Amino acid sequence: MSAPVSGRDGVRRLCADFPGEYWRKLDSARAYPAEFVKAATAAGYLSALIPEEYGGSGLPLSAAAAILEEIQRAGCNGAGCHAQMYIMGALLRHGNAEQKRKYLPQIASGALRLQAFGVTEPSSGTDTSSIKTVAHRDGDHYVVNGQKIWTSRAEHSDLMLLLARTAPKMDAKGDVQGDRQGDGQGDGKADGKGESKRTDGLSVFILDMREARRAGLAIRPIRTMMNHATTEVFFDNVRIPAENLVGEEGKGFRYILSGMNAERILIAAECIGDAKWFIAKAASYAGERVVFGRPIGRNQGVQFPIAKAYAQMRAAELMVRDAAALFEAGKPCGAEANMAKLLAADASWAAGEACVQTHGGFGFAEEYDIERKFRETRLYQVAPISTNLILSFLAEHVLGMPRSY
Ligand SMILES: Cc1cc2nc3c(=O)[nH]c(=O)nc-3n(C[C@H](O)[C@H](O)[C@H](O)COP(=O)(O)OP(=O)(O)OC[C@H]3O[C@@H](n4cnc5c(N)ncnc54)[C@H](O)[C@@H]3O)c2cc1C
Repeated sequence: MSAPVSGRDGVRRLCADFPGEYWRKLDSARAYPAEFVKAATAAGYLSALIPEEYGGSGLPLSAAAAILEEIQRAGCNGAGCHAQMYIMGALLRHGNAEQKRKYLPQIASGALRLQAFGVTEPSSGTDTSSIKTVAHRDGDHYVVNGQKIWTSRAEHSDLMLLLARTAPKMDAKGDVQGDRQGDGQGDGKADGKGESKRTDGLSVFILDMREARRAGLAIRPIRTMMNHATTEVFFDNVRIPAENLVGEEGKGFRYILSGMNAERILIAAECIGDAKWFIAKAASYAGERVVFGRPIGRNQGVQFPIAKAYAQMRAAELMVRDAAALFEAGKPCGAEANMAKLLAADASWAAGEACVQTHGGFGFAEEYDIERKFRETRLYQVAPISTNLILSFLAEHVLGMPRSY
């Protein structure tokens, strides 16, 4: 059984065992933070959202957000394991009793890792309704063929939550959303306005990759600018037992969307943690570094970008809290989750920029960890949803402007 989660202090204590040197070594080898993930699992952090009856802590989303924020704030990188927190939501909300009984206790104990989320494909990009990976029913199995890209942690996960087409895409015009920017409130509507036709026919499966890797599943790592254990995954007649279909066949897109608000809020919390790390580091260095006989932090040209990043971070933090509170109250929070992700990603990027600039040349030296964190936090302008797509969601769905695509 997992140990109980013990608040922000507990996360800080755990992170203290994984200093910059640990992450630096992994970064240069592009190696997976196995020891960190093991420790976070054993401490019960990765099962924070799993109900107590299944061996987790049954905590609300804001607690998971606090855990991820603290991990980033300590200079660690939660990207090796954060997905388990939001992927598991689809199983929790839409899985049947047997699936929950079979998987959740094992995920909570760390015996099974559910870290891989197979949605994005090379040819469809953000337009998820255009994915080409297909799953055909064959007796008591589905047979999967196709390809995913950017499937992070696939090599370090036992299970994958997989989105595949089980019926051909239907053409639909009008205000339906075939992309992933939508509200994701879990109300069965892709955009909060009407039933989507383009997204019908997509289904979600729990894929046991341990078996599949022996029979048609190939995983190829992609080396990226930061250490993210991301991959491309190929399916060649991979068989999945029909009992591993999550929810109803053809309704999978709305199950995926329903987890996206949680994902955005949690990633936003990570960005807040990154911003706090950058700001603390920059403010401290500005007070210590003496040039022209005085600390550089006495110059307003050095102070102001750090102070501005701090104000940006605090504003974004309020939006993250607002989004999490709405989510926990079961209220619509698509706009707030999107804005939280947008503002927090911008705040962490501004804080990173201020931190590099404050450090002058040393900002580029690996041993300061700044350039590593800078590369890591850049991702969140693009993934899991890019800034433009959030802006177009706000323009169309909050402000009522015409759909741009
Ligand atoms: C390191 C990494 C890890 C990832 N992990 C996962 C994962 O585990 N699982 C998973 O499924 N996916 C994952 N992703 C994929 C990620 O969610 C996508 O990269 C992201 O959603 C953007 O999609 P895309 O790369 O296909 O960009 P595209 O959709 O090709 O877009 C390219 C650019 O064009 C812009 N754009 C596109 N359409 C419009 C428009 N209509 N208006 C304005 N601008 C537009 C976008 O904003 C973007 O800047 C990961 C990606 C990376 C880089």
